[in-house]
Amino acid sequence: GLTEKLSAAFKKLRGKGRLTEADVKEAMREIRVALLEADVNFKIVKQFVATVTERAVGSDVLESLTPAQMIVKIVNEELTNLMGSETAKLNISPKPPTVVMLVGLNGAGKTTNGAKLAGYMKKQHGKRPLLVACDTFRPAAITQLEVVGGQLDVPVFQMGQIDPIDIAKAGIEHARKHGNDIVFIDTAGRLHVDEELMEQLKDMKAAISPDEILLIVDAMIGQDAVNAAKTFDEALDITGVMLTKLDGDARGGAALSIKAVTGKPIKFVGVGEKLDQIEVFHPDRMASRILGMGDVLSLIEKAQQNFDMQKAAELEQKLRKNKFTLADFYEQLAQIKNMGSLADIAGMLPGVNAKALEGANVDERALARTEAIILSMTPAERENPSLLNNSRKKRIAAGSGTQVVDINRLLKQFEMMQQVTKQFSGGRMKRKAGLFGK
Ligand code: GDP
Ligand code: MG
Repeated sequence: GLTEKLSAAFKKLRGKGRLTEADVKEAMREIRVALLEADVNFKIVKQFVATVTERAVGSDVLESLTPAQMIVKIVNEELTNLMGSETAKLNISPKPPTVVMLVGLNGAGKTTNGAKLAGYMKKQHGKRPLLVACDTFRPAAITQLEVVGGQLDVPVFQMGQIDPIDIAKAGIEHARKHGNDIVFIDTAGRLHVDEELMEQLKDMKAAISPDEILLIVDAMIGQDAVNAAKTFDEALDITGVMLTKLDGDARGGAALSIKAVTGKPIKFVGVGEKLDQIEVFHPDRMASRILGMGDVLSLIEKAQQNFDMQKAAELEQKLRKNKFTLADFYEQLAQIKNMGSLADIAGMLPGVNAKALEGANVDERALARTEAIILSMTPAERENPSLLNNSRKKRIAAGSGTQVVDINRLLKQFEMMQQVTKQFSGGRMKRKAGLFGK
């Protein structure tokens, strides 16, 4: 699948310390093929590869990332952008009931996912949903809706097989009277997009002015799902998409193409036949899922959050001039703490056995003690620890809830660290490096 192909492309880069332009070109070629095979629209693929390449060539490698990780990061960000970067919510009407019209081809999952949505809004948002049975085309559709509604304890409004527009209007009226604040209208589909279906849906839209027209599409049909989305959007100006059957071996192409082709966001995904198998669509999480590198990505995220390039550069200067103070020491500790335990971090690296590192955990309590001691010092003391005579130490011990011995231990550690930094004049510290070893 797409995930395996992309992982393979990245794996080749992983061992490399520095990437040549040829390495990047080769990786991009593989990424391009992987996306095309996943049924992503070729125009989107072309644009995507161009954007990633341009960013990769022009960018500096973030401190503490390898060039290969940097490319994963860029690919991940661009995949996220492709899918809309933000999580899109249902449009909720300020004047209840909110009316959500569900449209789509036969078998896409309108009926089941209408129920899932109703259940979700009830459980997660405390709404009082009503399901309205407007698929009068297939006789069994009404019973089906009643069954799924019953399973979730969500009321279902139906009037048999009369004009669906009349049912929709009556359903909304019913909701208003009975305090249902959100209405999901289940409509009929066809096997293929056809004029008659679109005309019916347009008429219904005009009659009930829904707050949301949610297109339900089956992710398994790949490029066809994208074409359907395009056609439905042109006819109805949909407000969002729910992508179903993502639990199957969907190739991922639909998720990647729909936003780019229609401009409309994916709002929810269906991940199974059961009625609670619905998820809010998060573009960033979907991107990591497609990349199949959730772990590497969270490592990259951590590195990014915790690493301040500016500070690193300043620190390097200080180390070189041997002006590394307790205040700097404290900042370093804070960064280590933000990163989580060493085992945690190592566990995110592919091929590292976190268990083997259990003993190497940062002692959180010792860290907290050290922090408290440094915080209890005056700025002058932090700059110049030789000021610390016995009475000052006592004051600091009292202020930090520690003993003088703890302070002495810390000072000893710090002294040792300073000695190390003295030898450290090679300048092999964090270096800002271009992606290509020029
Ligand atoms: P409709 O014709 O658009 O109303 O589609 P249905 O709601 O009747 O669903 C068609 C089939 O797809 C049913 O068997 C559903 O159980 C199944 N289905 C719907 N959503 C999902 C999903 O997210 N995952 C899986 N595996 N099956 C789904
Ligand atoms: Mg149906």
